[in-house]
Formats: sequence, structure tokens, C-alpha cells
Amino acid sequence: MGALQRITFEFFPPRDNPGRKKLVDNVAAKLAQLGPEYFSVTYGAGGSTRDGTRQTVLSLMEAGYQAVPHLSIGNDDTAELLDLLDEYRDAGVTHLVALRGDQPSGMGRNRFAHNAEALVKLVRQHSGDHFHLTVAAYPEIHPDATSARQDLDFFKRKVDAGANSAITQYFYCPEAYALYLDRCASAGINIPIYAGIMPITNAESLFRFSEKAGADVPRWLRYAIAEHDNDSDLTQFGVDVVTRLCERLLTLGAPGLHFYTLNRWGASTRIVQNLTPA
Ligand code: FAD
Repeated sequence: MGALQRITFEFFPPRDNPGRKKLVDNVAAKLAQLGPEYFSVTYGAGGSTRDGTRQTVLSLMEAGYQAVPHLSIGNDDTAELLDLLDEYRDAGVTHLVALRGDQPSGMGRNRFAHNAEALVKLVRQHSGDHFHLTVAAYPEIHPDATSARQDLDFFKRKVDAGANSAITQYFYCPEAYALYLDRCASAGINIPIYAGIMPITNAESLFRFSEKAGADVPRWLRYAIAEHDNDSDLTQFGVDVVTRLCERLLTLGAPGLHFYTLNRWGASTRIVQNLTPA
């Protein structure tokens, strides 16, 4: 598949065993046909999906897939985090996505004791170079940052602490990504920065989630989304728009694309197939 070999898919951990089985047997099996590098599994705010994330990762690995757990340091207990690192190492996990994490609801902003840089340092201190560490990056600037410069400085600190690669928050403006890659290169950041891709399938959840994550849905796109009043028309429109976005990102030199699948395979599959030369 040439340039498209570097595709990754993100899941959130299902609530129970039947949900996990469905994810592995249906969704992952379908997406696996596209030849992804790995499936990553998110980690709920404050460690709320600690077991769910671990079990989903293990189920994916048992089915023969490469699985990458997300891990956040937010307000988690350090001893529990270190135990989890050991468990992952013993289970054969070799790659983690290291994050500060989202705030559990009701806690407001800026009450974190830690940041992702501290987690990267902790993992390197505890597990040496065992894990490949991916961190988050924000072409449109993290909402907690006071300036683009500060945001880039925090990103560089994670890289200097030992991060090997990054995935961006999703965005719909390719020029923001182009500028970000230039700024990273000027700052001496040389790790691969995969572009985070959010397929458009449901207007309400996209707007709600984007608001929470500080991801920008441009005005022209909001209006265009609002014109599609059923999910199937919207999905077709979204596949077209996001395919064009991905094409542009690959032209700009994106080393890989990371799809936020929301545990669905349809839209991501159609986008990847559009990008794949016949
Ligand atoms: P950090 O790198 O720590 O930085 C975020 C901001 O914190 C910085 O811009 C800065 O304003 C501030 N900051 C950082 N370092 C310092 C410092 N030393 N001093 C002062 N301020 C500082 N969330 C989850 O809960 N679970 C997940 O599984 C998950 N997966 C994600 C996957 C990807 C690819 C992305 C892009 C995001 C994901 N998130 C997840 C969301 C992420 O946790 C939030 O965006 C969170 O608010 C920031 O996490 P971070 O790792 O980028 O934080």
C-alpha cells in the first residue's frame, strides 16, 4: 500500500466482555484488512477504564493484532501506574501512548498534579527503553496553553524526555498541520508526527466532543454538516471531505494517519480505500 502502510486505528474500551468480543471479532477484523500498524486503546479519565483498557489490549493481542494501550498520569496513583507498566511489559506490549489525560468530569481545568512529560520520564525511569512512547501533539494549540510557543515548548519537553513519535489532536485545516510540522522542524523536533483523523458521522457528537477537546470545526464545515440531516448522507459527505483532507496531509508529508474510529469501521474503511491506489 506504499505511503498508506502507516495507518493506525484508535478504539475506546467497551464496557463488558460481549462488547469487547464484538469489537475484536467485527470492528478490528474489518479494519485489519486495511493493514494497520496497530490498534490503540484509550484510557479513561482518572484511570476509570484501567481494567477495560488492559483487557481490550490483551483481547486484541490474543486475536493476533498489534495493540497499543494509552496511559495517562493525570491524577493516577504512581504505584498503580508502575504495576500497570510491568503488567504490560510481561504481556508483550512494546508500545504505549503516554498522556496527561483528560480531567474527570466535574473537576474543572488546571488541577493536574502532573503532565505527560512527567509520565514519559516515569516510564523511561521505570522501564528503560522497553516501550516505544507516542505522545499527543496539537497543531491547533492545546486549550490549556497560553501561546503557540508555550505549547511547542511543552511538546519539545516530552520529546526530549524520551518520546519516540506523536499523534495529533484531530483537525480539519491542513495548513495548521503544515505550519506545525515547520515549527517542529525549526525547534529541532524530528520524531514522526502522525495526523489524527476524525471521520464525520454524527453532527451532534462531533460538535460536543470538539468543544470538549478544543478541536476546531471550521465555520464552513459546520454549515456544510448542518445541511445533511440524516447520518447516512452526512457520512458520505464526511468521507469525501476527510478523504480530501487526508490526501492533502499525505502530500504535506504526514508520516502516518491515526483514525479516531469511535469503535466503528465503516467511514474509516471507506476513507482509507479512497486513498489506496487501485
Ligand atoms: P501535556 O503534554 O501534559 O500538555 C497539555 C497542556 O498542559 C500543555 O499545552 C500545557 O498547557 C500544559 N502543560 C504541559 N506541561 C506543563 C508544564 N510542565 N507546566 C505547566 N503546564 C504544562 N485523554 C484521555 O484521558 N485518555 C486517552 O486515552 C487519550 N488519548 C489521546 C490520544 C491522542 C492522540 C490525543 C491527541 C489526545 C488524547 N487524550 C486522551 C486527550 C489528552 O489527554 C488531553 O488533550 C489532555 O488535556 C492533555 O494531554 P497531553 O498528554 O497532551 O498533556
